[in-house]
Amino acid sequence: MGVTVTDHEPATRSDERAASRATDASTPMLRQYREIKQRHPGHVLFYRMGDFYEMFFEDARIAHEVLGLALTSRGQQGGEDVPLAGFPHHALEPHLARMVRAGYRVAVCEQVEDPRKAKGLVRRDVVEVVTAGTNFSEAVVSAARNNYLAALAEAGPAWALAWADVTTGEFRSGQFSPRDLRLLLASLEPAELLVPAGLTRDREGRGRELAELAGGAVLTRLEDWFFDDAAAARDLREHYGAASLKGFGLEELPRAAACAGALLAYARDNLRSPLAHLGPPRRHELGGSLLLDPATRRNLELTRSLAGDEDGPTLLSVLDQAVTPMGRRLLRAWLWSVPGRREEIEARQGAVAALMEERRGERLQERLRPVGDLERLVGRLATGRANGRDLRALAGGLAVVPALCEMLAGAAAPRLAELTTGLDPLPDVLSRVTQTLVDSPPLSVTQGRLIRDGVSAELDELREILAHGKDWLRDYELREREASGIGSLKVRYNRVFGYHLEISRSNLDRVPERYQRRQTLANAERYVTEELRAYEEKALHAEERVLELEERLFRELAEWLGPHVPALQRNARHLAELDLIAGLSVLARRRSWCRPVLVDEGELHLRQARHPVIEQVLPAGERFVPNDVTLSGAREQILLLTGPNMAGKSTYLRTVGLVTLLAHMGCFVPAEQATIPLRDQIFTRVGANDNLARGESTFLVEMQETAFILNHATDRSLVLLDEVGRGTSTFDGLSLAWAITEHLHDMPGRRALTLFATHYHELVDLEHSLTRLRNANIEVRQFGERIVFTRRILPGGCSHSYGIDVARMAGIPREVLARAQEVLAQLESHEYAADLTPTLQRKPAAAEQVARTTQLALFAAPDQDLRERLRGADLERMTPLEAMRLLIELRGLLD
Ligand code: ADP
Ligand code: MG
Repeated sequence: MGVTVTDHEPATRSDERAASRATDASTPMLRQYREIKQRHPGHVLFYRMGDFYEMFFEDARIAHEVLGLALTSRGQQGGEDVPLAGFPHHALEPHLARMVRAGYRVAVCEQVEDPRKAKGLVRRDVVEVVTAGTNFSEAVVSAARNNYLAALAEAGPAWALAWADVTTGEFRSGQFSPRDLRLLLASLEPAELLVPAGLTRDREGRGRELAELAGGAVLTRLEDWFFDDAAAARDLREHYGAASLKGFGLEELPRAAACAGALLAYARDNLRSPLAHLGPPRRHELGGSLLLDPATRRNLELTRSLAGDEDGPTLLSVLDQAVTPMGRRLLRAWLWSVPGRREEIEARQGAVAALMEERRGERLQERLRPVGDLERLVGRLATGRANGRDLRALAGGLAVVPALCEMLAGAAAPRLAELTTGLDPLPDVLSRVTQTLVDSPPLSVTQGRLIRDGVSAELDELREILAHGKDWLRDYELREREASGIGSLKVRYNRVFGYHLEISRSNLDRVPERYQRRQTLANAERYVTEELRAYEEKALHAEERVLELEERLFRELAEWLGPHVPALQRNARHLAELDLIAGLSVLARRRSWCRPVLVDEGELHLRQARHPVIEQVLPAGERFVPNDVTLSGAREQILLLTGPNMAGKSTYLRTVGLVTLLAHMGCFVPAEQATIPLRDQIFTRVGANDNLARGESTFLVEMQETAFILNHATDRSLVLLDEVGRGTSTFDGLSLAWAITEHLHDMPGRRALTLFATHYHELVDLEHSLTRLRNANIEVRQFGERIVFTRRILPGGCSHSYGIDVARMAGIPREVLARAQEVLAQLESHEYAADLTPTLQRKPAAAEQVARTTQLALFAAPDQDLRERLRGADLERMTPLEAMRLLIELRGLLD
């Protein structure tokens, strides 16, 4: 490669290198560089010079740090060296990817005229700005998920948010409450978030809030005018040729339209494309769907395990049976946008059910496998980024359509019928692409060999010249050998000297007069002749013409495909859904999942339900123990689940949560039978130590999450509380758990179905006072000292926490266990000393005892009131809450 670099464009590169080496930095090249750089503030500029991309000044330092490129210097400016770093042009893709992944925005500046034809400095321009959100690179954009660019702005007390995936053409916008916004951003996980600069400047609080909201997104501040209502609305109308924004549902939401407009302008400018494939920004509303707040998504391990990684087993990984990236992405979208309306859910169920019959799902998958990522191929096509392989792949996707429609013709489900009738085999597109492009075209569209013979008469003719040219050269070689009598004479070619005759040193005396010497090598000399030069003129010209023509024909094909983009996109959407549904049907059939019945209201009942993920990952030989559950607003609103650690409480709660979610998604569920009343939201409060990594007090987080539930749960919610009050002292925790349960039971008009798992077995007493609370526990069998968890849920409370038994299983030393038993016995028999020091201390040795008594006397100056109050209290009959109150009162007396 190294040689051809200088061979190819010797003039441009060395001239400019020289220019940049001059001591005065105001060389024409650096002036051009500065001028382009000024138009792209905040971007790292990849400046094309011949076969290299170079970065200067600060950009060079960034490139050195991020890309690990050697930092050199070129010339000086103001007495200082000008730093420079560069890499060869063919390595653009990986370098771009690394830069963007590190959070930078890169402006790619190309030579926009042929250096050989340029007079003076080659003209250059930025052809693309690559950022996290405006990016087509497969090294950055994962096939398994959408890559969202989002734009956020204030809309009075609410927020406006627009988001788009430029690789697929999806585009949405809406206005949301702060709470819904959080929920959306957590689901969308945008790669890049655009905000008006004024927002971060003027509002201290909001600025901070924003950074947090953005999560892992790159935050890009745009001039405020990007978000101007009127200008944005005008731009949108023009872009979509619409008289008003009514059709998009954005007429009454000026800020949502402004965000959409800002996003469109930014993406269009960065990608240097009219973005004809970007659908109009459809209005997005959360009403009518099943909501999952960020904590719940985390706790139920939908797309990430609690440890935070995406590779571990999650609901997503279990559900993902898709055979195309499109189906995989749609599944993710289904997980964060869950319908709350029965018609929609049942339509999906019907489609899954129909594909379960006669193994249609499996057969459909076989057909869909070759479709690949039609959706993103269309995105590349529409933004001028498709190559020959992309278009062949696109045709491959179309080719399956007729057989697929035929296969599904018999399926009874209305949703399947909709999806298949919406498919268009586009025979013209298929035949034109396959007849124009060779079967396996190269990656590049500028290096030829991609257009079939017979497509263009001109191309055929040029190819003919080239092919016969080879014959001519062979013939010429033979002729010259004969004429000169030099048997080893060879016709050769290189980029510097073109065609030439090479003659070895030993034959030099026989070289004819008419040969003109060009170059001397160690053992040979190189010559040209008039005839050879004339041929070269014609042949090289033909070669160049062929490349130009092939590229032009390819562009014409791509352009001709332009008007078909919407139909191709519709196909992609429908094939994606068919893929997803086929996968869900295969899963349901293989795992014997059942079709849940969704009811508008009434009882939630699951028979023999299993946890969809744990069921899959249990070690060999272990079987998941299924359980039933019944909850109803009228009778069994709250199920209080007690049992020792490791018994399976959390798993049971999550099972109910996940089955409810799956049912709303239109999936079958891991149970023998399921009836589920439609829900508006699933709330969870799980685990006491998940947020340590975020550096927040676990107890504070626990209480925040609980407060959120108490404030937002409705009659139609499902609430899963796992261990509330664990993060504080026993009495505090117990009393909070107690009061929270009462509150959930008594919230007027808001009887959320609730599962509450707790190790506070004292709470079982609540069953006496709360009429819609039921106790349940997890069966524990005791064999002598050993205990065994059967994982079976039984009615009634658990009176024993088995903590010491679990400790024994874990290998705590015998002495410790024995002593713990002793302390427990004392605690349970309410053995407290008169001075409130529990008598838990070991019986001290006599000498020690003396010292201790004198010591205690210092602190325990007995207060008369306190003693009396304590003596008078009926500890035997007290509820834990009353005990708590007493404690507080007693401490008050001390002060
Ligand atoms: P708890 O919340 O009561 O401490 P978990 O729900 O965390 O208990 O369960 C502990 C472990 O027991 C889980 O990791 C799981 O592997 C196993 N387990 C729980 N429920 C079941 C079940 N129904 N069938 C089989 N194994 C189970
Ligand atoms: Mg647990």
